[in-house]
Order: sequence, then C-alpha cells, then structure tokens
Amino acid sequence: MKIGIIGGGIMGLSLAYRLSQKGHKVTVFESSQQLGGLATYHDFGAFVWDRFYHVILPSDKYLIQFIKDIGLADQLRWRATLTGCYINKKLYSISNTLEFFLFPPLTFIGKLRLAFTLLYGSRINNWQRLEKIPVEDWLLRISGKNAYEKLWKPLLLAKLGENYKRVSAVFIWSYIKRLFSARDSSLHKEQLGYIAGGYKTVFDRLANLIHAASGEIRTGVAVEYIAPHSEKGIWVESNSKKEHFDKVIFTAPVNVLQQVAAKDLVQIAGDGATVEYLGVICMGLITRKALVPYYIVNVADQQIPFTGVLGMSNLVSRQETAGLHLTYFPKYVHSDDPLLKKSDEELRNLFFQGLRLMFPDLQVENIVSAHINRAMKMQPLQVLNYSQLVPKVLTEHEDFYVLNTSQFLNDTLNNNTVVHHVDEFVSQFHF
Ligand SMILES: Cc1cc2nc3c(=O)[nH]c(=O)nc-3n(C[C@H](O)[C@H](O)[C@H](O)COP(=O)(O)OP(=O)(O)OC[C@H]3O[C@@H](n4cnc5c(N)ncnc54)[C@H](O)[C@@H]3O)c2cc1C
Repeated sequence: MKIGIIGGGIMGLSLAYRLSQKGHKVTVFESSQQLGGLATYHDFGAFVWDRFYHVILPSDKYLIQFIKDIGLADQLRWRATLTGCYINKKLYSISNTLEFFLFPPLTFIGKLRLAFTLLYGSRINNWQRLEKIPVEDWLLRISGKNAYEKLWKPLLLAKLGENYKRVSAVFIWSYIKRLFSARDSSLHKEQLGYIAGGYKTVFDRLANLIHAASGEIRTGVAVEYIAPHSEKGIWVESNSKKEHFDKVIFTAPVNVLQQVAAKDLVQIAGDGATVEYLGVICMGLITRKALVPYYIVNVADQQIPFTGVLGMSNLVSRQETAGLHLTYFPKYVHSDDPLLKKSDEELRNLFFQGLRLMFPDLQVENIVSAHINRAMKMQPLQVLNYSQLVPKVLTEHEDFYVLNTSQFLNDTLNNNTVVHHVDEFVSQFHF
C-alpha cells in the first residue's frame, strides 16, 4: 500500500519505519530541512547534540525496545545523576530521601504532605476524574498550603506561566506517575540514559532503515493541502504538486492540521475551542567548567527568566561534547506569548541576566558560546476537560488518520509514549 506520512519527527519516522517493515511503500513529508522535529539536533560549534535536552528513563520500556529493534541497543548509555532545586536564592540537592527531609523551605508537615501527594498521586488510575479539577485546587487539597506555596506553585508557574490556572490536575498527576515509574524500575535504578551521539543517531538510523525498505523521505517539503480523492484514497499537495496515496497519516501539531486538512476530512473540537500549545525557548550554554553538579535543577524563583537548569554534561560523557560542558536553560510560555518572537540577542541578554543572578561567580572566560533555540508548538496545554478537544485517530475519512502528541490524554510529552502510540496504532490497524 502507498502511505503518506506528514511530519518527520519521532512519531512520523517511527511510524514510517514500522509500516515499511510490513511491506508498505511509505513517503515522509517533513517541512524542515532536518529530520527529528522537537527531538532534532543542533550544531553547537565544537560538537552536535540535541537542540533541546532529552533523557531516557529506565522505565521507558517501549522506547528502549524500539531502540533495540532498530539495532542501537549497544549505543544506550546509563549514568547516575543528581537533582537540585533553586529556591529562596539558594541551590539545594534533593537527590535522595535524606536530602528531601532536610530540605529547609518546607515545614515538617509540608514535607509529609508532599510525600503523601507523591504516593497518593502515583496510586490514582482514574485520570478522567482529575480532568475536571483545576490543578491548583487539587494540590492545595492534597499537599496543603505550605507545600503548595513553597514548591508546587513556583513549579506550576515555571512550567506553565499564568496558564496554570486553566490547567487540570491531570498535568501534575502525569508528572508524578512518570517520576514514580522511573523510581520503581529495577534495571538501572536511579540512573538516566541517552544514546551515544544523541537523537541524531536514532534519526540517521531510521532514515537508513526506511530507505532500505524502499521508503522515501522528503525534507524541506511542507504539505500545503490534504483532501479526499473522489473515489478512494487521499490527495496530498506540496510544492503545488498533487500526489495520490492509499492512506495518509498526519503527525504534526493540531494547528497545522487545521490549516492543511480539507474541512470534510477531519472534525476538530466544537464551539471554536481547540488545542492550545505551550512553546519553549531554550538557551544552550557551552562552558569550559561545569555550572552545576546536577542533571536537573528546578528553578522556583520568579526573578529568574528560565525555569530550569539542565546540566547535560552531568549525564552525557564529555567525549560527546569535545571536552566542554553543555547546560540548557529552558523557559516555557504559551505559544502566542510575544517572548517567542523576540530576537536571539534579546533573549540571550534576558537569560544572561538570570545567569548573573543565579551564578554570580560565573566568569566570562568560562563561556564558549550561547545558543538560543525555540519551538512554537511544543506541548498541548491540558486545560479542564482537555480530552474533548483532541482530534481522534480515526477521522471522518477511512483513509486519513491523525496520530500526534495532542492525543496523550493521561501522559506527559515524552518519546516513550510516542513510540507506544505508534505501536498501538500499527497493531490495531491492518492495512
Ligand atoms: C525542551 C524539550 C525537552 C524534552 N525532553 C524530553 C525528554 O527528556 N524525554 C523525552 O522522551 N521527550 C522529551 N521531549 C519531548 C520529545 O521531544 C517529543 O515527545 C517528540 O519530539 C515529539 O515528536 P513528534 O514527532 O510527535 O512531534 P514533532 O517533533 O513536533 O514532529 C512534527 C513534525 O512535523 C513537521 N511539520 C509541521 N508542519 C508540517 C507540514 N505542513 N508538512 C510537513 N511537515 C510538517 C515539523 O517540522 C516536525 O518535524 C522534550 C521536548 C522538548 C521541546
């Protein structure tokens, strides 16, 4: 069967790989010149690594299986890492239970209620109920005022800005669940993983495997219009040329679907409501010395313009980064926030103000380069009753399908869920 796949991120490419292994003739359309979407790579000068920070959890069983399937098991690396928190202008390590119980910003009762929230949250299965409860109400009820004000609220503000007021409890519950699944896993306990060479290794391998199975990958080709054929199948229009496919699967964000799909192909939400996205701005800083000993520092301080500090070199071998240190500084905002439109220079200046506040001893000689990257549509905003807004996998047309991250109703945005979503689709629909 001739199958068109829109989007060359990990969803589109893993799907193309699985379908090409079943003997289908796949064509992937990717609007960027580079494959990989949000998980793509960036040239940091002395080395190439992921544009945005990515980590593999020991509990990412579908992703790890997928990596094995494409013959990259020997490229997986694991390493024990530390976690920090920046609060009240101080950096704290919260990497083990003792450190957590010594964590000064919380009262003893606050700590007990926080621990209870994590345990209770990890035991909840009925996420549909949580979809109707604002995250703030849920956290205040379960964690109490001290833990909410000192920890949860700054974290919500960091991850969602003022949008947190519209978000349901599913948002925080899915984070708690992912955190616990990582802790529960027996293999590589407390360790985090990555692929040698970064996600570029995965995309290069997938491209080779798809080509070897007679599949086609077209980069730098944006799909402009998708419409039903009068008899069977689907037309895909790009570069003002129309091409016929037996089946088409769309993997890009919902706003693109609304722009390019003919009205009679797919119905998206009602009442004018639609899926909203968060965007991300992320500075990658290359230094000669490490800034922090942690893989992740959650920043709970509104004076700091970024919301986390990701010490990638505390996870990744320094051989990967030419002996230098790579640290990411992300900031999440609503996709229509004007900050996303600021120039790289303006953003670099803003982020450097935060750097000076957080690391007053940072010497200019230590800095090699600073790289601003951004994604306009990163993560769907899980507002109240979010599941009602999401496009279904099965559309109005039997030959057109939607498979994207907006459909993660009870999960965080991560590649384990992406490949699981693809595997479920491939096993359910026998073309
Ligand atoms: C800052 C950050 C940190 C993250 N950290 C982690 C992590 O630690 N672990 C983890 O597992 N995941 C992480 N993720 C999530 C991970 O990157 C995503 O799960 C994954 O990249 C989603 O892939 P996708 O293919 O579904 O979507 P996308 O990557 O968005 O792919 C969609 C593709 O469609 C293309 N496209 C759009 N319009 C068109 C068009 N008209 N025609 C053709 N192509 C089009 C886009 O260019 C894009 O390449 C992180 C993401 C970010 C941004």
